[in-house]
Amino acid sequence: MSHGLKLNLRGIMNKKELEKLTRKILKKDRNTFDYLNKKEKLLVFSFAEEYKTFLDNAKTEREAVNEIIKMAEAKGFINIDIISNKKLLKTKKVYKVFKGKSVGLAVLGGEPVENGINIIASHIDSPRLDLKQNPLYEDLDLALMKTHYYGGIKKYQWFSVPLALHGIIIKSNGEKLNITIGENIKDPIFAVSDLLPHLAGKLQQNKKVSDVFEGEKLNILCGSMSLGDTKLKNRFKLGVLKLLYDKYGITEEDFISAEIEAVPAAKARDVGFDRSMIGAYGQDDRACAFAELKAFFAVENPSKPAMALFFDKEEIGSEGNTGAKSKFTEDFILELLLINTEKANYRTMRKTMVNSQCISADVNAAIDPDFKEVHEKMNAAKLGAGICITKYTGSRGKAGASDANAEFLSKIIQTFNKNKVIWQTGELGKIDEGGGGTLGKFLAKSGMEVLDCGPALLSMHSPLEISSKADIYMTYIGYKSFFSIS
Ligand code: MN
Ligand code: MN
Repeated sequence: MSHGLKLNLRGIMNKKELEKLTRKILKKDRNTFDYLNKKEKLLVFSFAEEYKTFLDNAKTEREAVNEIIKMAEAKGFINIDIISNKKLLKTKKVYKVFKGKSVGLAVLGGEPVENGINIIASHIDSPRLDLKQNPLYEDLDLALMKTHYYGGIKKYQWFSVPLALHGIIIKSNGEKLNITIGENIKDPIFAVSDLLPHLAGKLQQNKKVSDVFEGEKLNILCGSMSLGDTKLKNRFKLGVLKLLYDKYGITEEDFISAEIEAVPAAKARDVGFDRSMIGAYGQDDRACAFAELKAFFAVENPSKPAMALFFDKEEIGSEGNTGAKSKFTEDFILELLLINTEKANYRTMRKTMVNSQCISADVNAAIDPDFKEVHEKMNAAKLGAGICITKYTGSRGKAGASDANAEFLSKIIQTFNKNKVIWQTGELGKIDEGGGGTLGKFLAKSGMEVLDCGPALLSMHSPLEISSKADIYMTYIGYKSFFSIS
């Protein structure tokens, strides 16, 4: 195309012409609630109720996997790893679990798997405090537990908040115990204590926040009643251990292999007089995981195979055998090829991946009225403005980014517009302000098209992340439309 733009020689346009032109060529910024009718608003609020229940039932990656399997089995999905080959060849709806911490669902249909799959991938781990291997100790007649934080947290936010313990303990005889303490109103809770303001002057208030709230100070109070008199060594620690031994039959050594996570002991709640928002722990990234799951279940007879992946370990770089860097996706695709009676070999698996298109379903940061300065307003996401499309992640010159192709991005926008999805775009903060990544780039490595897309949150990674109910619903509508792409 030539660059010969015509000169603008006509005079000022009249009001009507200008309005028409504005509507036609200027991009619209929208607030989702403005665009919803009464019926749609009711759908938004009922969807939010289901979402809150999911958040309460799935506070850890293991719990999320269990919830997802429960819901999938209720919809007739079959575990691809435990049924006979004969039955497998007839089934179209399957799931696959990886080590109890990642799970994938797939629906076959329409075209061969080799021609590509519509994939949405989210993560089900969230920032938290993990108990250390040797957690228990006593100091000043108090029993405490040492933690190592998991993921990117602002450490001060974890002091003085009620905490619950979730996780598994494997006893020396191999028996596996699932424990949850602190969620029931009758349960005790746990807490990291903080210094009173009266004495915080020298030690805390004139120092850098990061220096004051050290990781090694994130120690959880867990008891203050001893066994025995002052002559007994470790009497407060023993007090706690005896209770655990009596209740669960566990000993101190069993903590070494245990995976126990301290998470905020609170249920998901409505926020605001109008109940338009949700405040809860773990919305990064269970907002996307839930919307993805519901959108996936809405796929009845897809024109091409559809897949929903839920990964662990995103918050620490998608590492290990349960993160998006693992071979889970490849294994699952190979098995799908097999049950669809296609060639289950490396070449066909690679073809499938290159032909696939994927939404990396993760949250973005909503611009905060009190901290606007870290964003570039024109390219920041707003709470309530719909599902957020993030073309590229990364930081400082797009380093470490997953950067979606123009062609794929345009395809998604066209799909969203056709399906009346309210959407916006957002980039994570101003240039050189900071940044972050998602699991998108690890899936993009396989050759599939990948675009980051999900709701924007306020207070991300805090014990109380805030979302807009309208955005959560639009994320669901957006994901549902993605699965319909042929
Ligand atoms: Mn995330
Ligand atoms: Mn995160």
